Amino acid sequence: MVVFIKPKPGSFDLGTEAMPERLRFEGLEVTVRRSRRRRSLGLTVTVEGRVIVAAPVRASRDLLLQVLLKHQDWIKRKVAASQDAWARLPQGAVFFLGRAYPLSLLAQGKTPVKLARAEMRVQAGTTAAAWPLLQAWYRREADRLIRERVQHFARGLDLKALRVELREWKRRWGECHPQEALRFNWRLILLPPEILDYVVVHELAHLQEPSHNARFWQRVEQTLPDYRQRREWLNRFGSPFLLWSL
Ligand SMILES: [Zn+2]
Repeated sequence: MVVFIKPKPGSFDLGTEAMPERLRFEGLEVTVRRSRRRRSLGLTVTVEGRVIVAAPVRASRDLLLQVLLKHQDWIKRKVAASQDAWARLPQGAVFFLGRAYPLSLLAQGKTPVKLARAEMRVQAGTTAAAWPLLQAWYRREADRLIRERVQHFARGLDLKALRVELREWKRRWGECHPQEALRFNWRLILLPPEILDYVVVHELAHLQEPSHNARFWQRVEQTLPDYRQRREWLNRFGSPFLLWSL
């Protein structure tokens, strides 16, 4: 959200990298990021539910508080939504295709990672040691399944085979580069399969329609008539999975 203001000269203090400037507002801790190039105030609630105000160097604290007050309903709604999304993730669980499994650390076994008897078995002494093994396993599973789903939907849409690459982003699930490749976040493998399918169909639809216009959504709907519910799920509950780790 961007709020346009005319900054007045006034008191200001600059946070440093080590000690970022903070404000208390309605029980929330707000981080202030000032920049010489900024002319307006920008409000953001991050995936983790933190409130950040981007501000011109000289914007006064009073002005920042006024803007926070004016947009407090929006801020509280966003923070609550983020907390809800995180609260759905059981502590200590491991996620795979939309299901939560208990993690079981094994001293020995034939394979480093195995999903068996409704638990995720990892051959490691600590969760810290288990995480890289689990990530490698997730990437392999994501690679296999995403390629398969791309092929499946591309066939239905009469599109030629495309290069598929996996990435790790903190803020996005997929990217479409029509001349090069379709790129997907390996973390899609943590989400329910119908949500993974939605992201695949979304990126495939971008091959013919780069922007999110009416024609684009029509294309998505032709393949997934219930895409709205899937998109809604991703918007409401997807973000924590971009950051989740053991
Ligand atoms: Zn898109």
